[in-house]
Amino acid sequence: MNLTRRKFFVVSSALISSMLIKSNAQAVEGRYATIIDISKCDGCTDESIPRCVLACREQNKSRFPEPKKPIQPYWPRKIYEDWSDKRQKIDTLTPYNWIFVQKLNVEGKDIFIPRRCMHCDNPPCVRGCPFGALTKRAYGNSVINEKICFGGAKCRDICPWQIPQRQAGVGIYLKLLPKFAGGGVMYKCDLCKDRIEKGQEPACVLACRDRLKENAVFVFDERKKIYELAYKKKKEEGLFIYGDRQNGGTSTLYISDISFDLIDRALNERNERFKMPVDVKNKIQTTFNPIGKVVITSGFLSIAGAIVAAVVSKNKKTDGDENAKD
Ligand code: SF4
Ligand code: SF4
Ligand code: SF4
Repeated sequence: MNLTRRKFFVVSSALISSMLIKSNAQAVEGRYATIIDISKCDGCTDESIPRCVLACREQNKSRFPEPKKPIQPYWPRKIYEDWSDKRQKIDTLTPYNWIFVQKLNVEGKDIFIPRRCMHCDNPPCVRGCPFGALTKRAYGNSVINEKICFGGAKCRDICPWQIPQRQAGVGIYLKLLPKFAGGGVMYKCDLCKDRIEKGQEPACVLACRDRLKENAVFVFDERKKIYELAYKKKKEEGLFIYGDRQNGGTSTLYISDISFDLIDRALNERNERFKMPVDVKNKIQTTFNPIGKVVITSGFLSIAGAIVAAVVSKNKKTDGDENAKD
């Protein structure tokens, strides 16, 4: 695909508009939510790969990155993140594995925790992306637009659970400033956006229920029903809930017969990459500063302007031919 001047201006305008719009964004309680009942998950240990993980990979494989090699370093650093030779890795989140099952021993008991994006009500990843590559949808899901993501990983830095994962050697930055900007594209669970928009359940939810029937780990439904069900279980069965308060609220409620203080302590003792801190403040809500936001936005507008200028200048020579194809 050649990036013509016209296409570039369309993309730039979208990016700049989204930067401005995001300044006023508020928390959104989406239509759907999910319960993940840890006490019911056995990790699919009798199968070669957990059903939820397999279903997610099947569902999303057409969107997995195919990097252009050799991959350029992420200037000024000499490193880049390349998972393309580790596509089969299923014990962590990667650009090729958007859900994984974390195995843990808590006070002598083995537990299994399916981990993926929490789909926060006021997602810092969405609010913090300087290029507006993420959106919070009415269904409750937060979604990365892979076509305009520069892979700067701000979303991961600002996510309390460091969920989005980067693959270098792909994405729009290759067309713009391949040696000086961006590090690829970020990938994560989008709550099976194409399925839920058609009224279907997410693939992982369906796969787990196929195996465990009425004892399935996931319950996916209208948000109000999910919250009511979780609080009912808390009251009647003494279960613990995670995700209703963390980060200002989310569309994913873990429930467990083991407290999340104990779970997070065990995760910390094992120095796990993905933890479950109980006290999670929303960085956007707690650090929001209208003056700072203006400065930040202006800074990125300047950068965007510089990029526009650089690309237009670079494309000037070839625009005649390219425009003829538009
Ligand atoms: S959530 Fe369901 S499908 Fe996934 S590992 Fe647990 S039991 Fe298996
Ligand atoms: S869990 Fe992280 S990646 Fe997912 S919506 Fe929340 S902030 Fe964004
Ligand atoms: S909701 Fe869809 S994208 Fe998210 S983990 Fe489940 S299968 Fe994967």
